[in-house]
Amino acid sequence: MNGDDPIGALDELYQEVILDHYRKPRNFGMLRGADRKAEGHNPLCGDRISLQVRTKADVIEDIKFDGKGCAISTASASMMTEAVKGKSRAEAEALFDKFHALVTGGGNGVDLGKLAAFGGVSEFPLRVKCASLAWHTLKAALEESGSTISTE
Ligand code: ZN
Repeated sequence: MNGDDPIGALDELYQEVILDHYRKPRNFGMLRGADRKAEGHNPLCGDRISLQVRTKADVIEDIKFDGKGCAISTASASMMTEAVKGKSRAEAEALFDKFHALVTGGGNGVDLGKLAAFGGVSEFPLRVKCASLAWHTLKAALEESGSTISTE
């Protein structure tokens, strides 16, 4: 940790959503029949994520993640997998653009649903990488198979 406390700075409802996904990550584990995979690493915080995706005709049919990270990165991965399941690649990428704008302070979170919980992260530049790691990894997985991305 770097002495900041993004979770404490979030309002109570958002803290609850993030902590719930951190304690009980959704879509966590290994995915059978995955046709796309990518690894993500955020060396600044030590977050690691492994993402497995099963696609069918450009639609994310199923998605799971594995790995170990801080509350922000784990909750973000959990909520990302929920948000993109059943979506087309283009829809998932559009969602990433909105999410990225939100966590870097350039978006208002409209249309993001629960993902808007990460809006407070924009005040913590080091945590932006934690929040967006899973999304960058998803992009890598959809672009090519077997890649490793690093936020550095
Ligand atoms: Zn982190």
